[in-house]
Amino acid sequence: MSFTKINASAATLSKNRTEDSISHISGMCATCVDGCIGMCEIGKSAYRGAEMIYPQPFGIITTASEKDYPVDYSHLTILGTAIGAHGIEEDSDKAIFPNVNLERPIGREREITASLPFVIAAMGSTKVASINWDGLATGAALSGVPMAIGENVVGMDMQAEIRKGRVLKSPEL
Ligand code: SF4
Repeated sequence: MSFTKINASAATLSKNRTEDSISHISGMCATCVDGCIGMCEIGKSAYRGAEMIYPQPFGIITTASEKDYPVDYSHLTILGTAIGAHGIEEDSDKAIFPNVNLERPIGREREITASLPFVIAAMGSTKVASINWDGLATGAALSGVPMAIGENVVGMDMQAEIRKGRVLKSPEL
């Protein structure tokens, strides 16, 4: 069994020519024919080049993997227990959700404490990030959790001012 994805996806607006007969090792059609207009990712990238790197329509989407991983969380069942209490008194008036401490220090040399054990993933340099930044950042601040900044936000900001390797201004940041 192969976990390789075929060379076609709605994400890249591509298709295999022989949709019902595909080599699962390469993801190509069982018969790759001379003269095919190249609807698959391999064919399309040959003449559309760098356009095929990004899922489409670029700039207004967020993306996820289509790959079938051999193990995911749906294969696990976590059986909890309602007996006893850990880290708090065995008292149903005290062992309640608001009294659970989920704080987590992060960082190696200079720790900061997150109120909840998660980080909002890095938003990149697209319109999705700039449109949603205020709401996400406000929510993160109110919840006390870190929010990562995409590595290329400033690089893609047309209004950014960078002098001697330092960011002076970046309205999209
Ligand atoms: S280029 Fe080859 S593999 Fe791609 S769609 Fe055409 S026939 Fe199939």
